Amino acid sequence: MREEAATAQATEAAVTLRRACLDCGKLGRWRSRCPQCEALRERAKVAARPDRKSYAETKRRREAVAAHRAEVGDWCPGVPELGRRAHPSASLQADHVVEVAAGGPEAGPLVVRCGPCNSARSANVRSPLSRTTTPPRTSNFPTDPVVS
Ligand SMILES: [Zn+2]
Ligand SMILES: [Zn+2]
Repeated sequence: MREEAATAQATEAAVTLRRACLDCGKLGRWRSRCPQCEALRERAKVAARPDRKSYAETKRRREAVAAHRAEVGDWCPGVPELGRRAHPSASLQADHVVEVAAGGPEAGPLVVRCGPCNSARSANVRSPLSRTTTPPRTSNFPTDPVVS
């Protein structure tokens, strides 16, 4: 008896549990937004995270490294502004000349360095101490080939 009543109540609740979508106000049975608005928000979330590399970006980086190798070989140009000298390196990777974290565009020019040099530079760019009004010095160094 009691169970039956509970089931009936639950069914009724499910039917009446129609909510207005938080974004467009459409009524329906969803947690907070209609599927369309949910999809839109998901897309916006992805767009808000430009550091998430797209396939095209991954390919672009791989090509930048290949071009660098073809030109100068397994050679890391170092990070002159951090006192890191150029050195031989077999584990090269492409990174943005202007870090995305520092407001650089995802499709911006790339520079090829070894992993440790890239992270040293990223850490430097992200550190609040280095956030000055001067843009990162990149084009002045002959040891700093820029692949665009
Ligand atoms: Zn909606
Ligand atoms: Zn290096």
